Amino acid sequence: MTSPGLVKQIIRERAIQRRERERKQLPLTDDNEDFCETIRSKLDGLLDSNQFWNFVRCGNEQQFRTCKQCRKVETYTYRCCIRWCPRCQWHIVKMRQRVIQLWAQKIAQPKHLVLTQKNFPVLTRRRIREHTHALARFRRSSIFRNVRGGCVSTEITNEGNGWHLHSHWLVDADWLDIKNISIRWGKIVGQNFAIVKVRDCRDRDYVQEVAKYVVEGSELASWPAEQINEFVCAIRGLRFFFSFGTLAALAPQIRAEINAQKPPPPICECGCSEFIYESEDDALAWEAMHDKRR
Ligand SMILES: [Zn+2]
Ligand SMILES: [Zn+2]
Repeated sequence: MTSPGLVKQIIRERAIQRRERERKQLPLTDDNEDFCETIRSKLDGLLDSNQFWNFVRCGNEQQFRTCKQCRKVETYTYRCCIRWCPRCQWHIVKMRQRVIQLWAQKIAQPKHLVLTQKNFPVLTRRRIREHTHALARFRRSSIFRNVRGGCVSTEITNEGNGWHLHSHWLVDADWLDIKNISIRWGKIVGQNFAIVKVRDCRDRDYVQEVAKYVVEGSELASWPAEQINEFVCAIRGLRFFFSFGTLAALAPQIRAEINAQKPPPPICECGCSEFIYESEDDALAWEAMHDKRR
């Protein structure tokens, strides 16, 4: 007779095997696709800009391009290349991460600095521009005298208590005067006190933290519709990443090194690399997807 314990064990094992089978049969779901769909449905009826309609087409619309030489027609999926599009944003950040990685290898003293600012209720273009100006003032202040170079990227979050802007800096400096940095940054943003952190670069993946998306797809999708709209309208056309000093000087050389290792963008089988697109927008989007300078 089989013992009850053994029966239970067999049932458990069978259940695991069944789940495993079911898991394998399930189509692979891509989280980013879900985030895109959530953002689309929330913005639908709220936002009616070209950018929004390009975002709607992204990943869904089939495009055609004709080879200029042999006239062969090729199909490809349209990509919007908008930096808040969860489907596209990694393209933009990927090159940045590689540049930072190579730069960090060339310097001896990488330091990761985080500057924060008090939350505020409404996100506007003006507010973001003020933040960018504050970063530039901070960089030009005497605090940065001994900083040889680096980069800064701004991240925007909202966890329900207003908008929060913080910047990640990666700098090449022997030391950072954290107390004075806190006072100086506080003064620049008009606060008595500002939270500033210096993180150890040795045991953290600082490249991931410094070269970040302006907003994570999962976070953008989780916001209420009005908030997504406010964000998308406020950030349009603004820059959130800057490099300076030795990094800015080395960036072209580093990009050239990366490009030398990259496969060339897809060309027609006849060998021609020039195509006729349906519209100028489509040509630009394709170029942006394969832009080597990014
Ligand atoms: Zn061809
Ligand atoms: Zn996209």
